[in-house]
Amino acid sequence: MEKEIISKIKKLKKEKDVVILAHNYQIPEVQDIADFVGDSLGLSQKAKEAGERIILFCGVHFMAETASILCPDKKVLIPDLQAGCSLSDSLALLQLKEWKKRYPDAVVVTYVNTSAEVKAESDYCVTSSNAVRVVNSIPEDKMILFGPDMFLGSYVSRVTGRKNIRLWAGECHVHAAVKAEDIERARKKHLKARFLIHPECGCVTSCMIDAFDKGEKDSIILSTEGMIREVEKNKEGEYVIATEKGILHRLKKVSPSSKFYPVSDELECKYMKLITLEKVLFSLENEVYEVKVKKEIRDKAIIPIQRMVEIA
Ligand code: SF4
Repeated sequence: MEKEIISKIKKLKKEKDVVILAHNYQIPEVQDIADFVGDSLGLSQKAKEAGERIILFCGVHFMAETASILCPDKKVLIPDLQAGCSLSDSLALLQLKEWKKRYPDAVVVTYVNTSAEVKAESDYCVTSSNAVRVVNSIPEDKMILFGPDMFLGSYVSRVTGRKNIRLWAGECHVHAAVKAEDIERARKKHLKARFLIHPECGCVTSCMIDAFDKGEKDSIILSTEGMIREVEKNKEGEYVIATEKGILHRLKKVSPSSKFYPVSDELECKYMKLITLEKVLFSLENEVYEVKVKKEIRDKAIIPIQRMVEIA
């Protein structure tokens, strides 16, 4: 049955001139039928370069919106419209407008995990792979409003040494669940392993303080693409992974001889897991569900997104 679905997907993909992009947190079967698998930034870059007529986005809604903003002439499809994001939902347009009123001269830096409307009210968009670089590019005397992820924000603030950053108290329900105790438990269980920790994790501040204070070299805070690059360097390593566990599939492909342990088996994003092979096939057959951003929003949102892609 699965084989049949995969061969139908491949046939339709060719016939309808479609590129399939899948996020690192998608289920393994969906990652395996994609033309490209990556993080938000990598997939935005691939969307921008795509020559195909249709982009089928296997990820969550804000990612498909970003692709639509970057490629207004293409048809962007998502296989399930319910694939949202708790982090993106934690900063609504009106909340951002109110926040900006309190700091009228501040530069607004928002994570890519936001709606198109929120991006349209931002000066810069960032991902976990380029947030530090973007903040470093902003003049030191400028106040920064950083949202919606408070853990990524506090990580950026610490690494850049910036004191004039105000953080929005938003979080991703998956990464916020990772606590310092989970890392401690895994440390005792996997004595030789290195720890690759995503900057959205709830433990990130305490882990960084720990690592700095003790001079530890076995914990590294990395974006998902950073994790892939790190693992590629060492073909027989042992790693504890603190991010959504979908990434393990790609890590194992990149380094089949290494050992990977999720910091917790519960780190799973229910939104990412809504996309299945059956839904991908349905989406291709019926060319649904189209994600399109209104021109007036797009014209504003494209500016911070382009800055994000340029400072990659
Ligand atoms: S893992 Fe968190 S940030 Fe990523 S899509 Fe799911 S809810 Fe959003």
